[in-house]
Amino acid sequence: MTHLVWFRNDCRVSDHQALYEACANAGPGEVEALFLWTPQQWERHDYGLARQYSWSQALKELAQSLAELGVRLTLLEADSWPEGVRAMIDWAQHHGMKKLSFHREFGWDEVQRDRLAIELAHKTGLKTRVHEDRILWEPQQLLTGQNEMYRVFTPYKKRWLNQWHASPLPAPLPVPRAIGDAYKPIANIPEVNWSGTSELPLTESAAHEQLARFSEQISGYQSNRDLPGMEGTSRLSAALANGAISLKQCLHQAFSHPRANDKGVQTWISELIWRDFYHYLLYWRPDLAKHEPFYPRWDAFPWSRDQEALERWQQGMTGVPIVDAGMRQLKATGWMHNRVRMVVAMYLVKLLQQDWRAGERWFAQQLLDIDFASNNGGWQWCASTGVDAAPYFRIFNPYTQAERFDPQGDYVRRWVPELSSLDAKTLRQPPVKTLKHLGYPAPLVDYKQARENTLAAFKQL
Ligand SMILES: Cc1cc2nc3c(=O)[nH]c(=O)nc-3n(C[C@H](O)[C@H](O)[C@H](O)COP(=O)(O)OP(=O)(O)OC[C@H]3O[C@@H](n4cnc5c(N)ncnc54)[C@H](O)[C@@H]3O)c2cc1C
Repeated sequence: MTHLVWFRNDCRVSDHQALYEACANAGPGEVEALFLWTPQQWERHDYGLARQYSWSQALKELAQSLAELGVRLTLLEADSWPEGVRAMIDWAQHHGMKKLSFHREFGWDEVQRDRLAIELAHKTGLKTRVHEDRILWEPQQLLTGQNEMYRVFTPYKKRWLNQWHASPLPAPLPVPRAIGDAYKPIANIPEVNWSGTSELPLTESAAHEQLARFSEQISGYQSNRDLPGMEGTSRLSAALANGAISLKQCLHQAFSHPRANDKGVQTWISELIWRDFYHYLLYWRPDLAKHEPFYPRWDAFPWSRDQEALERWQQGMTGVPIVDAGMRQLKATGWMHNRVRMVVAMYLVKLLQQDWRAGERWFAQQLLDIDFASNNGGWQWCASTGVDAAPYFRIFNPYTQAERFDPQGDYVRRWVPELSSLDAKTLRQPPVKTLKHLGYPAPLVDYKQARENTLAAFKQL
């Protein structure tokens, strides 16, 4: 049966349930693949050029891998998802497709888009099949004893781990539909003019090489993961976001690791479960997709509207070295270390008193690994508005964070070169009188004063 597989954030051929099933049930030349290239729609979601670049890299390899399986990838460009969906259904009719398959996504607009696709498909006699891929289980399969959604991570994780043994296995690689180069990969994948330099794997083959490399050092993950000056984390986030590698593939690698019971492996699994949890929350609380806080505790907080302070934060010119290092790493590479993401986010919200949504937006525009659920969850955690969030009175001190996690100043030296001649202690908080000479700005705010102001404002609420 002629079968169309719609690729979105699942740019790979291994562990691709929709592709696997299509290939298993169709003859040579009967499976087609399609991707909707919708830059204006992504912009409406604040996804920037970095994320488009990530897709373009992943798609180039995907087109080749699919061609080797005898499947042609077609790319349709559209201004919006509804327009793209209509074009896709027309395309499917025109090419005599009988079935349409894809993997489920959870954002509000994504759900509307997929509903429209199913509705139009059925009107034209096209059967549809939707598979789970972004998270391990269907959200209804993980509920509390009271049959409610989990709102706290630890019990969610406990239940998740108890069920792991019954989780679905990664899908096998599809059998080639035709031998040789029956289909040449398509050539119309747009070149994206992103100005950064990626240090992350973005394609399926690069992601698997990286996973293999990381597996050799994963035992030290629980301590190394907090040190931004070293490569102590997997750096697989962009590949997980565009789907060049799947969650299941990462989890199976970890659970079958020879040292699977080590703290390092267990901690890494826990981080992947956090990712799962944030997607699960987006399913149960679709209002999160509209940037609503999970708990509207601080709705009346008098957020600062200081545009200059926001711009200095964005450009890495706050005068706080660890914050500026993080913001510059983000701009240059489209990625930032997790510890530093927390430091810069807390700094923006709790010391500059800016609305967390301004930071969420900037991250979305800059990150290669932008993933709405994880970004929203991370920002709401830091702003104390989310599930299991940091309590409002917890405010990271960026100077002591730098002392603990970048003790030699390696990270700051790399990203703030104007401070590189300073010794590690001076580098963390350079004396104001030396700054002009170094060409580095004075701090935007005094830490102690800003902290007191914020706590006072929180207490008033
Ligand atoms: C304010 C803020 C915004 C964030 N925005 C994003 C985002 O847009 N996309 C994104 O993938 N992650 C986001 N994170 C989570 C985390 O910072 C990144 O996943 C991590 O830095 C990616 O590096 P890695 O692949 O080396 O991670 P590793 O430490 O190797 O972890 C493995 C994988 O687990 C997942 N993961 C790890 N930590 C978290 C976490 N705290 N929350 C959710 N998933 C996690 C990621 O998919 C990651 O690739 C954000 C965190 C904060 C504090």
